[in-house]
Amino acid sequence: MTKERTLVLIKPDGVQRSLIGEIIKRYERSGLKLAGMKMAVPTSEHIEKHYTVDPNWRRVTGEKTIKSYKEKGLAPPSEDPLAITAIILENLKKYIASGPVIAMIWQGVHAVKIARKITGGTEPLTSDVGTIRGDFVLDSYQLSDADGRAVRNLIHASGSVDEAEKEILLWFKPDEIINYRLVQDEILYDVNLDGILE
Ligand code: GDP
Ligand code: MG
Repeated sequence: MTKERTLVLIKPDGVQRSLIGEIIKRYERSGLKLAGMKMAVPTSEHIEKHYTVDPNWRRVTGEKTIKSYKEKGLAPPSEDPLAITAIILENLKKYIASGPVIAMIWQGVHAVKIARKITGGTEPLTSDVGTIRGDFVLDSYQLSDADGRAVRNLIHASGSVDEAEKEILLWFKPDEIINYRLVQDEILYDVNLDGILE
């Protein structure tokens, strides 16, 4: 359980806003271990692969978007989930392929859920204060849809363990993932906490 891994991307807006250090600090201080890191300018083909590693992503994200329009009393741009995701995906490709990103693998118990908690909800307008998206960005679906672009939410963090495993394979070669011990692993995971007192 302590070796669960998740993929986190600092999207181009995070790099442009000089938030790389601030963002890394938030994951690092939780106790998660950095197991891989690189800077890259992704191609739009790579971004499409990234979002569609989960074969259900197009349908689920389309359905979620239609539901969120209706909850706000607004008419969705289409009733067809796949038509909606086609637009979202085009916007995501333009957004994330626009400049350098930082890709990271974070490892530790419940890494996927812990990283999602630190990251915050997808739409910055409603992300909780204390999360990265809640603290550092103020975008909304209302503004991004009106401007015909992806919502700028600074981060991608894998949504499930299965998604994480597939995404990590897409971003990292096996020899770019480092297995190592951290001194703090003992304090985080040891059952007896013996060996502290002299
Ligand atoms: P994440 O895992 O929190 O990034 O969210 P998802 O995987 O559900 O969605 C990926 C991306 O699709 C988000 O970062 C948004 O750019 C976009 N997206 C998701 N849901 C919606 C929505 O309801 N409306 C709009 N306009 N975009 C959305
Ligand atoms: Mg997602």
